[in-house]
Amino acid sequence: MKIISSLFRKKLPVTMPRDGHTMSRNKIDRSVLDIMGRLRGNGFDAYLVGGCVRDLLLGKTPKDFDIVTNARPQQIKRLFRRCFLIGRRFRLAHVYISHDRFIEVATFRAAVDPDQQAAEGQGRFAANNVYGTIEEDVHRRDFTVNGLYYNSANGSIVDYNGGLDDLKKKILRSVGDPMVRYREDPVRIIRAARFCAQLGLKPSRRDMKAALSRASMITQANAHRMLEELYKILRCGASAGTFENLKKFGVLKHWIPEIEPDRHPGLLPRLAVVDGRRLTGEEIPAAVLLAVLFFDLFEEAMGDKRGFQDAFNVMHQSFNDLVARLKIPRREWDAISNLVARQSSLARIPDPKKGKGFEKRFVRNAHFPNALMFFEITSRASGTHEAELAYWQERGAASRRDGGKSGVSGEERHSAGGVPQRDRGAPRRKRYRRPARPAGNS
Ligand code: ATP
Ligand code: MG
Repeated sequence: MKIISSLFRKKLPVTMPRDGHTMSRNKIDRSVLDIMGRLRGNGFDAYLVGGCVRDLLLGKTPKDFDIVTNARPQQIKRLFRRCFLIGRRFRLAHVYISHDRFIEVATFRAAVDPDQQAAEGQGRFAANNVYGTIEEDVHRRDFTVNGLYYNSANGSIVDYNGGLDDLKKKILRSVGDPMVRYREDPVRIIRAARFCAQLGLKPSRRDMKAALSRASMITQANAHRMLEELYKILRCGASAGTFENLKKFGVLKHWIPEIEPDRHPGLLPRLAVVDGRRLTGEEIPAAVLLAVLFFDLFEEAMGDKRGFQDAFNVMHQSFNDLVARLKIPRREWDAISNLVARQSSLARIPDPKKGKGFEKRFVRNAHFPNALMFFEITSRASGTHEAELAYWQERGAASRRDGGKSGVSGEERHSAGGVPQRDRGAPRRKRYRRPARPAGNS
C-alpha cells in the first residue's frame, strides 16, 4: 500500500488551461479575486479550492469561496487591514470584505498520519494541523472533486488526483485509498452520501465497498461535527436522496438507528418538500428541519395522546437519549417540542362559537410561525389538511397585518397557547455570531 501511495504522490498534476474548462472568472466574487491578487502581488501563491471550484465547474452557484495559500497566518494578517486569525490548533484567516462578510484564507496543510497522531495522544480523528505545500494539501482533501485548485492569475485549474475527469464522469472518489480515508475520518462517509445526492455523483466501487466496511466507525466520530453535517444535509436541497444514500452506505443504522425510511414511509416525502423549498433559497429554521426528520418518532411516542401538554411532556421525557447522543442543544429541543405540540391544534379549524380568544393567542405565540411552517411541510408531503392549512395561513397573515393591535402583552404572547413555564427557557445569553460568508456570485 505504501508503494502505491508513494507512486500516487509522485504523479504530476494536470494543469488545465483557461480555455480547457468551463469555469468562468466572472462568476467569482470581485473581492475574492482581489484577495488572491494581493497575496500573489506579495510573492505568495493563492488558489481557490474545494466546493467553490467544484460547484462552478458544475455550473452551480457556490455557497462560499475558500482561498488557500502558502502564506502563513501571520503573513496573511499583515497584508490585510481587517483580518482576524481564528482557531487554536490550525490558524485560519478571516479577511473581512465588509463589516459582516469575510473570506476564509487558509495556509496549505499536510495530512497527519492518524496512527502517529493517536500515539501522540491527540485522538484519531483530530483535525490535521501541520502546514504543508500544495502537493501535501491535495492529499488531505476528502474527494478528488473537492481537491481542484483554481489559479486566478491565469485561469487554470490544477488537478493532482483526476478530479476533473471524475467530475466529468460523475464519480465520487476518495483521494487515496478509501479504506484508509474513511477509517481516518468516518464523517467522510456521511459527506460522500451528501455529495452523491447533491451533485448527482456515483461513488466509485472502492468507495462504496469501503463505506460499507467502515460504516460502524461512525459511532466514534465527534458528535458536534456530526450535528453540523446533519444540518448541512437537511439544508443541501437533496436531503431525501442523502438519507437514501446513508442507508445504502450502511451508515444510517450506526448513526441514527431510530430513523428507518422503510418503516417510516412519510419521511422521504417530507424531506422532498424541504428540498424543494431549500432549492428556491428559502430559509428553514433548524427546529423545523429536525422536526421533519424525527416526526415519525414523535408520533410513535405520542400514540393516542393529542393534547398540547401531553405532547410537550412526551417530547421532554421520551427522547433524552437521542437528544444527548446527537448533542441537540436544549433550546433547540424546546423549540421542536413547542412546534410539534401545536400540530394537533393546527389540524382543526376552531369552533367559531367558542370565541376568538384562544385563536388570537395561538397565532400570536412566538412558536406559531415554526409550527405553521412544519404543518405546511407535512400537509404538502401527505396531501392532507389543505383546508386547515389555508385557514391558519390566512389567520397568520391577518395577525401580521394588524400586528401589535391585539393588545396581547409580550408576556401573554410568550405564554399563550398553554405553553408551560419551563418552556420559556433561561434568558438568552448574548452570543458572538459568526458573520455570514459571502454567497457565491452575489
Ligand atoms: P459544501 O458545498 O457543502 O460547502 P465543500 O466541499 O465546500 O462543500 P466544506 O465542508 O466547506 O465542503 O469543506 C471545504 C473543503 O475542505 C472540501 O471541499 C474538502 O476539500 C475539505 N474537507 C472538508 N471536510 C473534509 C474532511 N472531513 N476530510 C478531508 N477534507 C475535507
Ligand atoms: Mg464549502
